[in-house]
Amino acid sequence: MSIKFPCVKCELTGNFNGLFTCNGCRQSFCANHSIDHTNKLRNRFEDFINEFTLINDIFHDYKQNSNDFPWKKQK
Ligand SMILES: [Zn+2]
Ligand SMILES: [Zn+2]
Repeated sequence: MSIKFPCVKCELTGNFNGLFTCNGCRQSFCANHSIDHTNKLRNRFEDFINEFTLINDIFHDYKQNSNDFPWKKQK
């Protein structure tokens, strides 16, 4: 038995065929809101990648400039 949940955005229950369950947050969305949600997730993912790249660049520079790390000194 599989339980179908309504769209969390508009609580649409009559269109189960179009409902999509997000693997990330396990919430159900109708066709319209699944697109909405996927776009949001993609933007957040891109933000995350941008941040990661930025941090990676900073550490890369740091490694080149210094062999010692501040968190190693604390030990
Ligand atoms: Zn909806
Ligand atoms: Zn989600």
